[in-house]
Amino acid sequence: MSGASERPWRERYLVFGAPSLGAGERAEVLACIDSGWLGAGPRVAELERRLAAYLDAPAVVAVNSCTAALHLSLKVLDLPPGSEILTTAMTFCATANAIVHAGHEPVFVDCDRGTGNLDLDDVRRKLTPRTRAILPVHFAGRPCDMDGLLAVAGQHGLFVVEDAAHALEATTTRLGQPGRHCGTLGDLGCFSFYVTKSLTTVEGGLIVARDPTLARRLKSLALHGMSADAWQRFSDEGYVHYEVEEPGFKYNLTDLAASIGLHQLASLEERWRRRQVIWRFYEAELADLPLRLPPPPAPGTRHALHLYTCQVDDTRTRLTRDEILRRLHALRIGAGVHYRPVHQHAWYRRTFGARTGTLPNAEWIGARTFSLPLSAGMTDTDASDVVRALRQIFDDPT
Ligand SMILES: *Cc1c(COP(=O)(O)O)cnc(C)c1O
Repeated sequence: MSGASERPWRERYLVFGAPSLGAGERAEVLACIDSGWLGAGPRVAELERRLAAYLDAPAVVAVNSCTAALHLSLKVLDLPPGSEILTTAMTFCATANAIVHAGHEPVFVDCDRGTGNLDLDDVRRKLTPRTRAILPVHFAGRPCDMDGLLAVAGQHGLFVVEDAAHALEATTTRLGQPGRHCGTLGDLGCFSFYVTKSLTTVEGGLIVARDPTLARRLKSLALHGMSADAWQRFSDEGYVHYEVEEPGFKYNLTDLAASIGLHQLASLEERWRRRQVIWRFYEAELADLPLRLPPPPAPGTRHALHLYTCQVDDTRTRLTRDEILRRLHALRIGAGVHYRPVHQHAWYRRTFGARTGTLPNAEWIGARTFSLPLSAGMTDTDASDVVRALRQIFDDPT
């Protein structure tokens, strides 16, 4: 990868968050179709086994999205209706929407300007007698301070549900022990296998539960609250009657989706290493531009390298974030925004009356941030085109 060159400008649009699927995934999908079993069955069970091993997780339940994972996690805790759940505004709306759908109130906590992760001091400030849980997000793939968070939760008797949608490959240190996977340290952890995530099943998700009893109930809740799943009912053991234990949801993953995930899991670390090469290239090549780049990972942690977020340094350029997005697009580079804070979205503003100025760091990031393409399928030329485009934009800021 090199910086400037005399190449003509790129023809092909560089799609932000493009998944890397190949012959392996195609073969797995065809094998699944040929097996005649497409719904929840042996491939889902196999993906659960392998993900539990990868994460070193006590119990896991595959579902059809991280949104479903978050919703079920909050349901299974049986909190009093209207409980306050502390969460970050620097997240995708699904995090907060799941709290609302579970019948609770999201209470937004501010984040750190550098890392985008929950600010523990603000967590403490926002505790009330109605607070029942904390829902942190490992933003961009960077582990939250789980020792600090679990200490606050322990002191106040709160559950912790981790939104680890960005953090499948991320690990952190827990009580001096390194290598612990994000999403396995709280009471429950939720992962996403949406197309833009580092492992995709097109749509899909996973819940990690520390307590295997909770995992059994989650499994049932993900399939109508039935006592036995369809695989058990229709397998060659013969028909087995089921009981509806409680009204559940239709949140199960399918074998067809799991077949893609099985192949994706086998090459997960390879894709992480490719993203690391691109990440380091950006770090070196963008250092002198009027941008704040992601800070290095904290010692003893592993960043999942899901999002490469830059913040426009408005003390050094007159270009706004939206103008940069527009010009990247004109140069056929797709970029993302992670995130405009949730409390500033229309329904949340209307419902909770959240005024601008209430979460200064989240709002500061929300006004300045944009994310560069960081997909394992990107070529060296793609990555240098991103750098070239940004250099061109800042060289001609008019
Ligand atoms: C993608 C994402 C979700 C939702 O995941 P789905 O699988 O699309 O439901 C939730 N939280 C965060 C932080 C995400 O990035």
